[in-house]
Amino acid sequence: MTPLLSDAGRARLDSIVRPGVLCVFDFDGTLAPIVPQPNQACLPAPVLTRLVALQQVTRVAILTGRSLVDIGPRLQFKADFLVGNHGLEGLPQSPPDIRSFQQMCRLWREDLAQAFTGGQLADPGIMLEDKLISLSVHYRHAAHHEQVEPALRAVFGRLNPAPRIIGGKYVFNLLPPTAGDKGTAFDQLMRHSGAPSALYVGDDVTDEDVFKLDRPNLLSIRIGQSQYSSAEFFLRRHVDIVHLLDTLIERLAGQAGSRALASTIAASAASAASAATGPAAGNNDNTGLRTLNE
Ligand SMILES: [Mg+2]
Repeated sequence: MTPLLSDAGRARLDSIVRPGVLCVFDFDGTLAPIVPQPNQACLPAPVLTRLVALQQVTRVAILTGRSLVDIGPRLQFKADFLVGNHGLEGLPQSPPDIRSFQQMCRLWREDLAQAFTGGQLADPGIMLEDKLISLSVHYRHAAHHEQVEPALRAVFGRLNPAPRIIGGKYVFNLLPPTAGDKGTAFDQLMRHSGAPSALYVGDDVTDEDVFKLDRPNLLSIRIGQSQYSSAEFFLRRHVDIVHLLDTLIERLAGQAGSRALASTIAASAASAASAATGPAAGNNDNTGLRTLNE
């Protein structure tokens, strides 16, 4: 992985960030900082204002594991494309068989509820999130991660039919076995949008299915460096997403022949960010963002 803020990164931005480029973002850990409880996640004001500004110069897509019902209100803006449930929602091709997916999740939910009533899995730090056509089991707050992980895998191994399991940061996502992943969803999104090029920003295991796509017209960026990631470039910290958004806005507005537009957008984003109040703003760094590790 190479830092995006490098000569190589700037060269790739030159080749990818062209008129029509599709800017695709994961949500948790990418646009929104990781928070102790998933239901507390929201867009920081500086990110929101810049996404709105970016939409003035190109199309913006969100590709998330959250359900559409969940993610919609958290965005506070209307993305050009909103793809949820790892691609099972929001694309013309998805989902192929929603009823059977719902039925499958209902059976898994019942089995898991029973498994979570005894032994080490009877832990209030384990939370089952029902997304109707997929499930997520969060264990960030479990007492002993190293014991809970194999115990959960053992329980998942007994589910029938066997789910497709995608790991993440203290979460297991259980999808129908015939479901695709973020990589297949991204391919569909490219076909559907007709975009000539795209960049994708993500932070977690589920994003690796996009990072490993063999697409010369894709610039892949991970939040945080990892020797195990297939992403081409990385941003060091979550707060750097603000600087990436500023770069995209400036480049695209400049290509549109409007330096004045770029300045106006940047000024309006900065002004809105500084004026913003509420849970999305007012943190203790100069971007209004905060991560769990800070
Ligand atoms: Mg994420």
